[in-house]
Order: sequence, then structure tokens, then C-alpha cells
Amino acid sequence: MKYLIIFGPPGAGKGTQSKLIAKRYNFKHISTGQLLRQEIEKDTETGKIIRSVIENGEFVDDSLVMDIVKNEVCMDKGNFEGFILDGFPRNIDQAIAFDEMMASYGKKIDAVLSLEIEESIIIKRIQHRANIEGRLDDADFDTVKKRIVTYHEVTEPLITYYKSQNKYFPVNGDMAIEVNFRDICKIIDKL
Ligand code: AMP
Repeated sequence: MKYLIIFGPPGAGKGTQSKLIAKRYNFKHISTGQLLRQEIEKDTETGKIIRSVIENGEFVDDSLVMDIVKNEVCMDKGNFEGFILDGFPRNIDQAIAFDEMMASYGKKIDAVLSLEIEESIIIKRIQHRANIEGRLDDADFDTVKKRIVTYHEVTEPLITYYKSQNKYFPVNGDMAIEVNFRDICKIIDKL
């Protein structure tokens, strides 16, 4: 079994690469953003709260996200050969809680695949995605900028956290999808 995290700023291509990785290696794709959007679609009270948080370009409460992740990691449906976690962890508290949770199951993360990408490309990609997917948090430019600032302030410090565990594997995310994927596969194949 292999347990991987895909890491990077909004618009880096985490979702696209995760889908390709999941298919090639028979991994479960766990996207916290996607799971939260599913909760919004159910139109529950929690869904309504999540909606306003996401629309404002903010982070959903850690304990709620942890519950979702825990549920997905524990749910052993299908014969997967590991998982690729997309959009989580997004801050140090989530990373520490996740390491503790994995340890309690006798598991540990094998690698963090990090899509490193130029800021100007990020904005272009998000604008492109806004036209295609119609995501709540991609439409407004100020919200997009806020998410990028939060990424630098709150999520980026995870790079040091995972480097100190020797689990950080950078990939040049500026390249075409298939080039990124090939570089990622080279890393996974060596794990
Ligand atoms: P994503 O699809 O990963 O870009 O996530 C979309 C939105 O969902 C984010 O902008 C956050 O508002 C929320 N979200 C996703 N993952 C997390 C997380 N790990 N912690 C807090 N909020 C999250």
C-alpha cells in the first residue's frame, strides 16, 4: 500500500494529476474540496455553512475536515492499493492531527508530491477553470487572491514540515499535464 499527498497552491493541477495517479496506480482519490462540495449539494445545515465559508475563500473548520478525511481513510470499499490525498492537509494542525491518525492505524504517509508553479500561471488556470467548472470560489478575483495569500501564509509552511520528514518531492507544475504526470510517475515508481 502507498499513501500519498498531492500538494500545491490553488490551480496547480492537484485534482487533474490526482485523477490520473488514482487511475494508473489503483489508488483511492480523496479530495477534501470535492467531498465538501458534495456536502453542499445535499443542502444540509452543515452544507449551508460550508458553502458560505468556501464562497468567501476561507478554510472549512479543521474538525469537520478531519472527520471527513478519517471517514474516507477508514472506509475500505474497493480493492485500492493506497490513496492520494488532494487538498489536505492545508495547515500545520491538520498535518499533525493526520500523522497522529495514521499512526493510530499503524500507517504513515510515503510521499508528498508537490506541484511547484509560477503565480501568474496559477491565476490564468483558475480563470480558465472558472469558465469550465463554475466553482463557487473561482469566480471572484478577490476571493482567488485571498486563497492564494492564505496558501502562502498557512499552507506553504507544510513544505518545511514534510521536508523535515524527508517526504517532500517537488515537481515542476508549470509543464503540460502529461509532462507533470510523467515526472510524478517517476517519483511514485521509486517509492
Ligand atoms: P479545493 O477543491 O481543494 O480547492 O478546495 C475548495 C475549498 O474547500 C477550499 O478553498 C476550502 O474552502 C475548502 N477546503 C478544501 N480542503 C480543505 C481543508 N483541508 N481544510 C479546510 N478547508 C478545505
